Amino acid sequence: MTRTISILGSTGSVGKQALEVIDGLSEKFNVFALSAGRNIELLEQQITNYKPQVVSVATQKLAIELGRKIKNTEILWGQDGLKQIAGNSENDIVLIAVTGLNGLEPAISAIKNGIDIALANKETLVAAGNIVTRLSRENNTEIIPVDSEHSAIYQCIRRKDSSKINKIILTASGGPFRTSSIEEINNADIETTLAHPRWSMGDKITVDSATLMNKGLEVIEAHWLFGIDYNNIEVIIHPQSIVHGAVEFLDGSVISQIGLPSMHIPVQFALTYPEMFSGIKTNSFDLTEIAKLEFEKPDLKKFPCLELAYEAGKKGGTYPAVLNAVNEEAVYAFLQRKIKLTDIAQIVARVLDRHDVIENPSFDDILEVDKNSRELAVKKHLN
Ligand code: MN
Repeated sequence: MTRTISILGSTGSVGKQALEVIDGLSEKFNVFALSAGRNIELLEQQITNYKPQVVSVATQKLAIELGRKIKNTEILWGQDGLKQIAGNSENDIVLIAVTGLNGLEPAISAIKNGIDIALANKETLVAAGNIVTRLSRENNTEIIPVDSEHSAIYQCIRRKDSSKINKIILTASGGPFRTSSIEEINNADIETTLAHPRWSMGDKITVDSATLMNKGLEVIEAHWLFGIDYNNIEVIIHPQSIVHGAVEFLDGSVISQIGLPSMHIPVQFALTYPEMFSGIKTNSFDLTEIAKLEFEKPDLKKFPCLELAYEAGKKGGTYPAVLNAVNEEAVYAFLQRKIKLTDIAQIVARVLDRHDVIENPSFDDILEVDKNSRELAVKKHLN
C-alpha cells in the first residue's frame, strides 16, 4: 500500500499526530498537500520534512510571507485553497482536521471528486450531516471517523447494517468538572477548564469537553455517520477513558472497542483503513494495571449543553447548525474572558429558541444560517 494523502490542519493537534503516524509508516504514505491556519513557522518545518507539492494557509498575506521563504511548493490560501487541495485527484485520502465549519467545503469537495475522507472535524457532520452523508453515498466514498468514540463504534460495526443495532453507547470522560458542584462550574476559570484529565487537544474542543457540548456534538455526528435514531444513542460518563464506545446488537450481544487513550490509534486506523500496520508503538495494554472501570449517567443539570445538543439533533433541519455556530462563538468569547463557562449553554439555548428552522437545508442555507446565528450571538450576547 502506498497512499497519497493531504492533511488539512497539519499544524493542529490531530494534524501533528497524523504526521507522527506517517513518520512511523513513511514508506506507506506520500504527502501531497498540507494546510495550516496561521502557524506558518511550523508549516515551514513540515514543508522541509514532508515535501508536499501544495500547501495552503489562512490568508493571502500569510501566503506571500511564506512564499518569501519557500520555493518549489505551490502556496494557496483561504477556503478556496482548502477546497482545491481536498478535491485534487492526486489524493487517495484527505484528512480533515481543521476546526469549525471550515471543514465543510473541503469535505464536500473531496467527496464530489470520489476521494475518501478521514474526518476529524465533527462540525462538518453536525451542521450538514444530511448533505455530506448523501453525497458520500452518491459518490461511493468512505467517511472514516477520526474522533476516538466514532472510530470505536465504526470498528465495532464494520459494515453491519444499522437495522441490526439496538443502540450505540458513546463514552465521555466527564472532563475537569465531573465531580464539581454547579457553583464551582459557574466560577470556573480558563486554566481549570483547559486542564483536561485524559486527552490533550486544541482549546476549542477542550472547552467543549468541559461543558459536555463535545459529547452532544458527537451524538449528532454519530447519528449521521451510523444512521442511528437519537433515542438509540446513549452517553455514559466513563472517567478512565478506556472504553471508547460500544454497540448493542439485536440479539443482545455488545461489542466494544477499548484501549489506552491515545489519538494515534484512531488516526492511524483511519489513515490505513481497511489495512492495519503496527506503526507507532503504544504502551502494552494491561487490564490489571487499569484495574477498575467506572460508568455513571451524565448529570444534565450540571451539563445542560448535552441536552441542548440532543434536542437540536432531534428537531433536525438547521437547528444543529445553529447549535454549532453559537457554541463556537460563545467558546471563543469564554476563551477571551468575555463570558462565564456556564453562559455558553444559556446563550446557545436563547438563540436556538428564536430560530426559524429550515427543514431540508441546502448547502447555501446552512452557510447562511451559520453566519446569521454567529452575528446574532455576538451582537446580542457576546459584546
Ligand atoms: Mn471524541
